[in-house]
Amino acid sequence: MDLKKIGIVGSGQMGSGIAQVALNSGFEVILNDISDTQLKNGQNIIEKGFSKLVQKEKITEEQKKEFMSKLSLTTLIENLADCDIVIEAATENKNIKFEIFKKIDSILNEKGILATNTSSISITELAAGTKRPDKVIGMHFMNPVPVMKLVELIRGLQTNDETYNAVKTVSEKMEKITVMSQDYPGFIVNRILLPMINEAIFVLMEGVGSAEDIDNAMKLGTNQPMGPLALADFIGLDTCLSILEVMYDGFGDLKYKPCPLLKKYVKAGYLGKKTGKGFYKY
Ligand code: NAD
Repeated sequence: MDLKKIGIVGSGQMGSGIAQVALNSGFEVILNDISDTQLKNGQNIIEKGFSKLVQKEKITEEQKKEFMSKLSLTTLIENLADCDIVIEAATENKNIKFEIFKKIDSILNEKGILATNTSSISITELAAGTKRPDKVIGMHFMNPVPVMKLVELIRGLQTNDETYNAVKTVSEKMEKITVMSQDYPGFIVNRILLPMINEAIFVLMEGVGSAEDIDNAMKLGTNQPMGPLALADFIGLDTCLSILEVMYDGFGDLKYKPCPLLKKYVKAGYLGKKTGKGFYKY
């Protein structure tokens, strides 16, 4: 299967990053969001990303122009109908994703693959709400997409080999390395990462250490490039909370229960870097 045109739903931090690497690998990209402002933001992020690559002499100004010319923006999801693959990267909320999947399934051509960048929601369940469960797959990029090498591919119960192989090839064209995960809440990366982040928030809430000390302890003491609280801010505190809720709901195990301080921050609109305030100020 030779996939050429990629539709991306959601033009936030992940959607725009995925768009940039897709364009950089020669794909044609159509980016969709419900918000015009978010689409423009996404376009700016992509353009800035390419400008950095020009500065570093990794691409030429002409290449940047050519990549940008293959990008189109739309608030109408119907315009994604002729894509070979649609990668959904909208807000981490089950109802939003189910609605989007239903809609895309109804408009996308028969051969089209439906991938989702969800951090935690069941691929099997999303697939079951469509008429093409064999063509639904998880394609979990890491943040920031242009920098991080990994794409976690998640097979739903009905995902077929053709879909898996096509999406693996697309990821490799984007110069990513894939791992395969079965479909259980949190998959591999977040199942291991989020309990650590949640524990760091408990440690902060209980006053065991300041945010800076917690992050320095983990950076310098366990050789992590970024402390868990800074990482949570970077991921987005709303996204962290959603992932924990899905794991807590899916396994019923108290070890995934979201820390009350995380819930409080999300209620206050402190979502991390994207809103200028989380555990740190930006
Ligand atoms: P974000 O908040 O930056 O962006 C989400 C975008 O989705 C917004 O622009 C919003 O307007 C748009 N959106 C909401 N409803 C929509 C709809 N019905 N149709 C089209 N667009 C819609 O979020 P993000 O950090 O980019 O996360 C997006 C997805 O990627 C989530 O599923 C998240 O779990 C996943 N993810 C995030 C990270 C991370 O570190 N942030 C890492 C891996 C995966």
